[in-house]
Amino acid sequence: GSLWYNDVVTVEIKWPVRGKKGISKMKTGFVAPKGIEQLIGNTPMVRINSLSDATGCEIYGKMEVQNPGGSAKDRVALAIIENAEAQNLITPHSGDMIFEGTSGSTGISLAMLCRAKGYIAHIVVPDDTSQEKVDLLENLGAVVHKVRPAGIADPKQYVNYAKAAAMEINNNPENKHRALFADQFENEANWKTHYDHTGPEIYSQISEVLPKGKTLDAFITGAGTGGTISGVSKYLKERLPHVKVVISDPPGSGFYNKVKYGVMFDLKEKEGTRRRHQVDTVVEGIGLNRITRNFSAGSDYIDDAIRVKDEESVKMAKYLVDNDGLFVGSSSAVNCVATYKYAKQLGPGHTIVTILCDSGSRHLSKFWKLAKESASIKDLSQL
Ligand code: PMP
Repeated sequence: GSLWYNDVVTVEIKWPVRGKKGISKMKTGFVAPKGIEQLIGNTPMVRINSLSDATGCEIYGKMEVQNPGGSAKDRVALAIIENAEAQNLITPHSGDMIFEGTSGSTGISLAMLCRAKGYIAHIVVPDDTSQEKVDLLENLGAVVHKVRPAGIADPKQYVNYAKAAAMEINNNPENKHRALFADQFENEANWKTHYDHTGPEIYSQISEVLPKGKTLDAFITGAGTGGTISGVSKYLKERLPHVKVVISDPPGSGFYNKVKYGVMFDLKEKEGTRRRHQVDTVVEGIGLNRITRNFSAGSDYIDDAIRVKDEESVKMAKYLVDNDGLFVGSSSAVNCVATYKYAKQLGPGHTIVTILCDSGSRHLSKFWKLAKESASIKDLSQL
């Protein structure tokens, strides 16, 4: 769609500008966005000074936190909705419904966009989801359904429940309104929007800041659905095949093993016996023990993996506040630990981009409780 509205326009100014008389041309980035969806994307990229200075590399963070719903998931929610509208599966301002099973950022982005576009968001969450998150979703106008926590094979598991609820509505001819199952893990509109927008934005922003003769050396991020890493990596590698793509992974997640050894689970115990781990971490939004369609779409582009301990990401979060005033969420902190480690491995003079996914304010009761209580570190070798 025609969604990216911050294009720079040139206007003629017919009065003195900074002392110059006569007609001056001036660039302005301001075109008033028509509604919240036009604020999505075109996020800035910031040089993370503390990490750059500590490693002698140039390290940049793509500020996905600056989307109106506070995370990269705004892009995904918008793409899923527009894709469904184009296929005439749902119609704006009709009372149609959008279902998703999520306790995270995607629910927030969907709830926000559903209000703007006249849909009803139904968000299904496990009933141990924090009240803070449920309140946020309800305040954004979503109907929140709580279900018992269950494994992915259980039909009552929250993602399965959301899918079944949407199907039930569509299969009942008496229902006037239609329901869409957003399906962020399997819906390929997810990685495609990162290929169409996040990747090109990073490519053009990094091209602007790189000195002559320098190139982007690595792109590092974690994966939840896998949409970000797949879409961005595919775009970057098609243009800069030498770029190394590195996945940062929290404890218990299978992506690390998948990239390092080709299998998600440990094959340690008996030969042929796969040991499946619980994703066991205070980090939210990344780490998984199954291969999704959005991960598969770009997994061939991933060159390496770095496992990040909770203790390290907690210390990094605090370090970024202490040194840069950057108040990031848990997955961003994981990305920054992996980026720091990879920069040390590459040595000075390299350029790396990572993703700052969301803000610390979404993680006050869990991740930041630990970060707040942890002692500040003076330098990153203490990670
Ligand atoms: N960070 C946060 C806070 C998230 O909510 C998510 C998405 N679940 C991610 C990172 C990972 O992004 P993706 O789903 O594109 O892999």
